[in-house]
Amino acid sequence: MQETKVLLLKYGEIALKGLNRNKFEKLLEQNVENAVKKYKYNSNNKNAYINIEREQSIMTVWCDDPNFDIDNIIPALSKVFGIVTINSALKVEKNIDKIKETALKYIAPVLDGKKSFGVLAKRSDKSFPLKSPEIAAQIGDVLFSENGNITVDLKNPEVWVAVEMRNNGAFIHASNVKYHGAGGMPVGSNGTGLLLLSGGIDSPVAGYMMARRGMKISALHFTSEPYTSERAREKVVRLSKILSEYCGDIKFYSVSLTEIQENIRKYCDGDYTTVLLRRFMIRIAESIAKSNNIDCIITGESLGQVASQTIEAVKVIYDGINTPVFRPCIGLDKSQIIETAEKIGTYETSIEPYEDCCTVFTPRHPVTKPKLWKVLEEESRLDKSGLTKRASDGIYVI
Ligand code: ATP
Ligand code: MG
Repeated sequence: MQETKVLLLKYGEIALKGLNRNKFEKLLEQNVENAVKKYKYNSNNKNAYINIEREQSIMTVWCDDPNFDIDNIIPALSKVFGIVTINSALKVEKNIDKIKETALKYIAPVLDGKKSFGVLAKRSDKSFPLKSPEIAAQIGDVLFSENGNITVDLKNPEVWVAVEMRNNGAFIHASNVKYHGAGGMPVGSNGTGLLLLSGGIDSPVAGYMMARRGMKISALHFTSEPYTSERAREKVVRLSKILSEYCGDIKFYSVSLTEIQENIRKYCDGDYTTVLLRRFMIRIAESIAKSNNIDCIITGESLGQVASQTIEAVKVIYDGINTPVFRPCIGLDKSQIIETAEKIGTYETSIEPYEDCCTVFTPRHPVTKPKLWKVLEEESRLDKSGLTKRASDGIYVI
């Protein structure tokens, strides 16, 4: 058997899942399959196929076509929640001479110019005749004899070389060709959430954070035509596309608030505009969540960031809502949210200057400590259920 270039995907928390573990692993395998779907074929060989094998709590991924460098799919895999590390490795027959040959051919070159290395061997397949320290010593010897200037350091080497004896083959890899996975839990393992997605910086980060804990995300975006443009909505669709690289397919709902906003402006106290509007937004979100069996609502709110995110405002805005609401950014500073937005690739799109329905008709002096009695009095001047129903009826789904 020739050596095969593979990727080893290792999971984190899933390993702690006891009896449910198989369910989590299967879901992760499906998500990996979806993430690499677009690489199934490549131009050189129309039949090249990406293979995934699950064995002893590790996934091995390789391509049938030796001309396709499997490292090409690392960027897509590094967005799959549930994977903690990705090792670029060689898979070879469980024969010590073959392993040595492969180490010389592939690992010796990556040690070139390094000061020190160490070899770790792990024998998950106990039937292999050599014990771990012996395997490590033999592989260390051949690599050392190949490289005149390197030293062996078994405490803190510049590069760790690992040899893993598994049921499905021997694997060899080096720590300088190891990549970080996205961590978290596989999407689909922890319920469903309706993300209130604006064009801003915070809400895409909020969706990312919940999806990272395994939640399947749908998105709801509010518009206010003609005060907001089609291009503003198109920007939010682009944001959800970026998110879907992590979260898988996202169902996108869009609802117009124009009539509601015009009524609030006409009949209500201007300082209460934002609070009143946000109550409508949450009521509509709750009804969409209920009728689509979505477990919870997710927002990008961060405590104290703006007038509608003081504790008094949050209490009033969510009064009467009985769907769980998650606000994963609530305890984060803006700088921390921006850091995540940059990392996940939404920041550049978020800062494009388009109008948002919440900034149309914003009061000059928004209340920071709204009173519930006053809100209810203002709302009594509006046809609450008719407005909510007409807005919900005009829903647009992608
Ligand atoms: P973001 O950066 O996410 O836009 P923000 O700091 O601008 O947040 P607000 O405008 O007060 O804060 O909005 C708070 C939250 O309400 C947002 O994080 C988002 O979840 C939701 N939201 C605001 N505007 C919209 C919108 N047009 N459509 C859907 N949800 C929205
Ligand atoms: Mg906003």
